[in-house]
Amino acid sequence: MMCAFRNLTRENELQSKGLKIELVDHGIASRIDDTIEVNRALTTDMWEDLYASILEHELQHDSGMTTLKDFKLDIFQQHKDIFKFMYLNKNSWTVMKPISKRGEDWIINHTLLVVYGIIALPFIALAFL
Ligand SMILES: [Zn+2]
Repeated sequence: MMCAFRNLTRENELQSKGLKIELVDHGIASRIDDTIEVNRALTTDMWEDLYASILEHELQHDSGMTTLKDFKLDIFQQHKDIFKFMYLNKNSWTVMKPISKRGEDWIINHTLLVVYGIIALPFIALAFL
């Protein structure tokens, strides 16, 4: 596993909780059961602080059902440089997909579904005017 040195403590903390990190070439980071998928680009020295901040975030998610706590975490927690990372790593834009496929399983991002639902509301309301 390639990782920035300063994040080793965090990674050890994850492993002690039975979580494993899987490097991928899409998205930013997401917790899927006991696996945290992390965009490989995030583990380079350039993004050391962002990576640490994102690992911290993923640790705060409990596994299983999406709860209000998870929702608040995803909506209100800010990560410095995240938009810069997305700008420079276009493969991370898949993080905006509310539904994606992982092997044979469909992964649903409940937070995004709610956000897109709220965005769609005025348009749905317009249809009834
Ligand atoms: Zn999250």
